[in-house]
Amino acid sequence: MNIEKNVVVAIDYTLTDNDGVVIDTSTGREPLKYLHGTGALIPGLEKELEGKIVGDKLEVAIKPDEGYGMRNEQLLQAVPREHFGHVPDIQVGMQFQANSEQGPVMVTIVEVNDKQVMVDGNHPLAGVVLNFKVEVKEVRAASAEELDHGHVHGAGGAH
Ligand code: ZN
Repeated sequence: MNIEKNVVVAIDYTLTDNDGVVIDTSTGREPLKYLHGTGALIPGLEKELEGKIVGDKLEVAIKPDEGYGMRNEQLLQAVPREHFGHVPDIQVGMQFQANSEQGPVMVTIVEVNDKQVMVDGNHPLAGVVLNFKVEVKEVRAASAEELDHGHVHGAGGAH
């Protein structure tokens, strides 16, 4: 069975940046299971997996425009420090949910001084080339219920 839209796929994967730093991996965990073609994975990786079968291994570099997007410097914002008065110890790298005109977004603190806090609304992997090593572990038809819910059930899935 080939990977195509609406089949359930399980993959082992390791994601590294261009410096070889491991960003995420399924090593030591259950393989990642997802419903193919539903946007569960970044577009570039779904495209690379299209048509593959169990046992296939791939090494691909996904550019930001097919990953988490390019960085948008307008999402960098200085916020008065007193807005964080309720946070006892503000540190670079902390993440908060903030309200924007487009609804809630995750922001990351990138700089702190006495007067202000710089927050970055970009995805932490925006602008990063994503190097994936992937092995396809399972490909199966989705159940009617899985298709209805738009996600995978059972071990490694939702619920
Ligand atoms: Zn469900």
